[in-house]
Amino acid sequence: MFRWIGAGALAACLGLPMVAQRPGGEHSRKVVVISLDAFGAESLHDPHLPAPTLRRMMREGSYAAAMLPINPTVTWPNHTSMVTGVNASKHHVIVNGLIVNQRTDAQPKIDAEAPKSRLVAVPTVYDAAHKAGLTTAEVDWVAVMKADGITWRFAEKPDPDGPIERDLVVQGMVSREDLQNFGKPSQAWRDRIYTQAAIDIIRKHHPDLLLFHLLALDGIEHKTGFGNDSGKNTIAFLDDRVKDIVDAVREAGDLDRTTFLIVSDHGQQSVFKHINGNVLLRQAGLQGTSADNPAFCIPEGGFALIYQNHATVESTAALMAAFAGKPGVRAVLTPTEAAQQGWPTPKDTDQGPDLLVYAANGFSFAGDNSPEAVTETKEAGAHGYPNTEPLMKAIFIASGAGIARKGEIPAFENVAVAPTIASLLNIHLENIDGKPLSSILTENATK
Ligand SMILES: [Zn+2]
Repeated sequence: MFRWIGAGALAACLGLPMVAQRPGGEHSRKVVVISLDAFGAESLHDPHLPAPTLRRMMREGSYAAAMLPINPTVTWPNHTSMVTGVNASKHHVIVNGLIVNQRTDAQPKIDAEAPKSRLVAVPTVYDAAHKAGLTTAEVDWVAVMKADGITWRFAEKPDPDGPIERDLVVQGMVSREDLQNFGKPSQAWRDRIYTQAAIDIIRKHHPDLLLFHLLALDGIEHKTGFGNDSGKNTIAFLDDRVKDIVDAVREAGDLDRTTFLIVSDHGQQSVFKHINGNVLLRQAGLQGTSADNPAFCIPEGGFALIYQNHATVESTAALMAAFAGKPGVRAVLTPTEAAQQGWPTPKDTDQGPDLLVYAANGFSFAGDNSPEAVTETKEAGAHGYPNTEPLMKAIFIASGAGIARKGEIPAFENVAVAPTIASLLNIHLENIDGKPLSSILTENATK
């Protein structure tokens, strides 16, 4: 800091023009990214949506007709694409965690505790910000565990001994016991605590980049399906949390230099039937004691991942036959075919599946304890369908410092989010696919 103040003062004394401002510092841009999980673009176009804060931000800034998620349309992969500027074929996150124990003779598992260093194969915008000397924070962001580039954190599963957590306990916002049993109450309760944590970080630490994620809409839609009053009530609740954050930034004295990006990771759609992929594999003789090269299914809602210990051209053909044309199956893709839709292959990473199966609309892959391949369910919600499905599309609203009042802009891919954050913070991300949304940035956006 001292060195840069010195350089600026020197330039002023010598009558030299002031050159590009160093990132960070007392008067530089701040970016707050708020991700409202599973908020579909379809909902944003409802003229009666109970979301006055979002509506105001849309009026005063710019918003996308839709933001296109990457494949798979799942939480961690899309949160990772929004901070890396690349799709899953490069960042390698394809479920909500690290797939382990795949290509063995047992069911693979998903390790949701895997550190970011093992999970995310490319640098992130918060790494770049941290390297440039900026301060970063995350609250309930994902695929970010133990990331070096984060200065302050309140994780999805908070650490009762963490400094922000202890701060909230001292303020009486939450008890230590509640932090230790954080998963027990409702998601709305957790989202309120996450909001308090973000407010605490904003007030006390004024981070240059804050990544903030709320989950209540995803949770209620998984339970009840898409487009009902439960979802709309939850959107009203989330709108209030966005207002809380904007108010906190104002009270912290940072409003005039803060850009708000309101995003989501994917939409959600209703399902009425489950497909049990492991039952189909057993029925085809590809699992169980008689199978010499057993295959296993990881069910993920709109899609399923199939892994086999030693996949060959012949064994893959048998895997395809187990799924192709079966009730509720939309498409069966080899690794080469999946790569054309942005998925990593087994050659890219051990995360890449040996076969990818998409569910048809109205169906989702599940792991029901049933001998039947297809089971009926009460209306529920799922995502993970191809990113071309209308209800999978996400939202993007930009408002505040550095954002032009453009109203609605055409749909774009969410790999544009990371370079847009980088532009606003006057930092650089290399080797990425996305381009900054220059059309919505004012001329002095990076000043
Ligand atoms: Zn999600």
